[in-house]
Parts: sequence; structure tokens; C-alpha cells
Amino acid sequence: MSARLVLLGPPGAGKGTQAARISERLGVPAISTGDIFRANVAEQTELGRRAQRYMDAGEYVPDEVTNAMVRDRLAQRDAADGFLLDGYPRTADQVAELDGMLADAGTELTAVVELTADTDEVVARMLRRAAEQGRPDDTEVVIRRRLEVYAEQTAPLADRYAGRGLLLRVDGLGGIDEVTERIMGALASRLG
Ligand code: AMP
Repeated sequence: MSARLVLLGPPGAGKGTQAARISERLGVPAISTGDIFRANVAEQTELGRRAQRYMDAGEYVPDEVTNAMVRDRLAQRDAADGFLLDGYPRTADQVAELDGMLADAGTELTAVVELTADTDEVVARMLRRAAEQGRPDDTEVVIRRRLEVYAEQTAPLADRYAGRGLLLRVDGLGGIDEVTERIMGALASRLG
């Protein structure tokens, strides 16, 4: 069954973890723009060089860079029958671009899942993750900036998708298995 899904939610809400599990259950690739950017930074590619300073500051990479990258990724064979986008779209411009890409391919989104989480909880989670993964650059200032950018630019996208009847809101607090089941339960109605 083909599912074309978007996973929305603030940084630290557990999107990456859930994306991996949901993509495995549904047999579609999880495409994380953050992971693709990080891999490019690690390999010091041209794309990585362009993205890094924005990432380090907790800001979004410019839309034209991000959109071109996603267009390339979605054109790959494994995404032809479905995908789960984790961390894209994040701006109104990206929503419009994604609509265009899907229209070009003669397809449309199946659903948009928004993982909700409390701000203090996500800050605490991200600080823990920064300490565990030895990412001292992931300071509280940068983390709070990321949440601010999310609230300003990305949170409003949920309403747009709700207006199109695509939005499924899922509580992201709780155990990993519990949240996966909530997401699968919410998706069941759409995956028929
Ligand atoms: P993430 O792991 O999804 O939180 O992404 C890490 C960083 O990559 C973000 O803080 C942004 O700097 C950048 N990034 C990831 N996805 C996007 C996107 N859709 N638009 C702009 N920047 C992005």
C-alpha cells in the first residue's frame, strides 16, 4: 500500500525515532532532511558547506537549497511508491514546493502527522541527547532558538494541512512503543 506521509513536530518530540519505526511498518523510506544535511556536513560536500552555518545557529537552511535537495531525493526509485518525510516541509514555501513535486508526479499526500510535545519537556530531552551524543555545540540557547523558529515558521503549517483535511494530531509524550501505536492507530483510518 502506498503511503505518502509528512511527520511534523518540534525538535525533540521524537520524530526521528518514530519515523524509523513507522517507515519500517509501512515499508516506505523515511526521508529526514536533517539526516541528509548532517551526512553532507560530515562528508564536507558543497551542500554541507552551504547548510552548516544555519544548522549550527539553529536556523533553517534556505528554502531553495532544501527544496532542491528534497526534489532530488523524492525522484529516486525507492520513493516512487511512498515515503515518510521527517522534517520537511518546514516553511510555507516548502509546502508549496512539495505540492508542486507531488502534482508533477500525479500523486498527493496521504496524511500529515503532527507529534505534539511540551516545550520544557523537549528542551530537557534535547539537552540530554546533546550530553549523551557529545554535542556540546547543542547549547540551550541554540535549542531554544530552534524551538522559536519552529513555532514561528513550522507550527502554523499544521493548520493549513488541517484545513485540507490531512492533519492527524498525535500526543508525542510517553513511551516509544506507546507513541508508535498512537500514530499507527491514527493512520489506520487513512491507510484503509
Ligand atoms: P532536524 O534534525 O530535522 O532537526 O534538522 C537539523 C537542522 O537541519 C535544522 O535545525 C535545520 O538547520 C536543518 N533542516 C532540516 N530540515 C530542514 C528544512 N526542511 N528546512 C530548512 N532547514 C532544515
